[in-house]
Amino acid sequence: MRAIKGRNTTPELTVRRELHAAGFRYRLHSPALPGKPDLALPKYRAVIFVHGCFWHKHDCPLFKVPGERRESWQAKLDANVARDVKVVRELRERGWRVAMVWECALRGVGRIPRSQLTAQLSAWLRGTAETYELRGR
Ligand SMILES: [Zn+2]
Repeated sequence: MRAIKGRNTTPELTVRRELHAAGFRYRLHSPALPGKPDLALPKYRAVIFVHGCFWHKHDCPLFKVPGERRESWQAKLDANVARDVKVVRELRERGWRVAMVWECALRGVGRIPRSQLTAQLSAWLRGTAETYELRGR
């Protein structure tokens, strides 16, 4: 199974590296914030999650329910999705802007060129949109 989970994954490191090179500074996995966002940028009142498409059940080619122990996986992944919804709501209630960067934006046939990824995330950070989502094409 090609799946990723947890902290400091390759897609997450890519986003961190790109934003750092673009001059942004952030906190990692802030324990004080709902869902311990992968990146938090207090200056922009913004948080960024880098989501693995498998673990967060993304509607994209990188997601597929495993053939074995299907129901158990389904329940686990549904719980992840429910938690994601709750976390975003809690962050929004506290006045944070929330971005999701999906794994498929970073790898696979639909991935977005790095320069474009950085440009789009930078524009969102400096803008005023409350939420943002970056996915593969
Ligand atoms: Zn995806």
